[in-house]
Amino acid sequence: MRWDNLGDTPAAPADIALFGTDAVTTRTFDTPEFRGITFHEVRARSILNRVPGASRMPFEWTVNPYRGCTHACVYCFARKTHSYLDLDTGLGFDSQIVVKINAPELLARQLASARWQGAHVAMGTNVDCYQRAEGRYRLMPGILTALRDRANPFSILTKGTLILRDLELLTQAARVTEVGISVSVGFTDQELWRTIEPGTPSPQRRLDVVRTLGEHGIDCGVLMAPVVPFLGDRPEQLRATVRAIAEAGASSVTPLVLHLRPGAREWFMTWLRAHHPGLVRRYERMYADGAYAPTWYQRRITRQVHELAAEFGIGPAHRGATRRIPVPEEPSLSATPEQLTLL
Ligand code: SF4
Repeated sequence: MRWDNLGDTPAAPADIALFGTDAVTTRTFDTPEFRGITFHEVRARSILNRVPGASRMPFEWTVNPYRGCTHACVYCFARKTHSYLDLDTGLGFDSQIVVKINAPELLARQLASARWQGAHVAMGTNVDCYQRAEGRYRLMPGILTALRDRANPFSILTKGTLILRDLELLTQAARVTEVGISVSVGFTDQELWRTIEPGTPSPQRRLDVVRTLGEHGIDCGVLMAPVVPFLGDRPEQLRATVRAIAEAGASSVTPLVLHLRPGAREWFMTWLRAHHPGLVRRYERMYADGAYAPTWYQRRITRQVHELAAEFGIGPAHRGATRRIPVPEEPSLSATPEQLTLL
């Protein structure tokens, strides 16, 4: 691996306590794509994480090699988890990235344990495992190899086109176990994308991933998330998005309306005030009862998307499909900081 390393700073005692690991090395890289980003390399003690309150999730185990995400989606629900590391949930979440550099070998060891029962493992449910950092750290090939070698079922949710780098490994894994891939595309509106998901590949490039996976025999669903009230929910916007998803050959489409949990909510509202001040009152009313839009609104969006999916011929979800379509993990507000360091 080539390290264009500007900063290579040994861990301060406070860092070690902060991350709950034995070693933290902080690095920065002088390349345009990583300028302004600090990586905290840690050796995690465990990589298979049991989801708190797993009964509400279609999966019980997750693997998250990164914390923080350079994709920098304004609404990202995982922002809150950065506060457990005493890191900022706004720009800090976008630019202070924790990298569990021993994730592949740790996973191989844990999968080989006699106690491991071969349960489904979901990835990309907290932060994106194919964010830009993965291009440099290359943790996913080792992780996929470990899962393939044990024929362990898994799923991945991503906005990252980098997943295509690992196409061969995904194909090999799909021959021996259940592999579910979902790409997240909430809208195709270019202006909305540039401002609200500034670090991500464009929606069209993500849909190209869906198409390429399909061409290689790997079914790929689309999590149509988030549907953004007043900015991405006009009938013609929903129609254009579902049409594009259908044209990419997605095996399913699952709509999810924007939710604004603490941590994400403050950052999103700051963005809204700067970019769409006229919508602030409407949002305050819509999210007055908490993190979720009213049920009637969620139902309306779901119905519209399902009708469009039927019109454009996106197949109805088959039995067991929910397990194959990972949805974002809800950060447990009751989890302790120590538990969250294992996420
Ligand atoms: S890609 Fe996912 S994890 Fe990354 S910032 Fe966006 S919503 Fe959060």
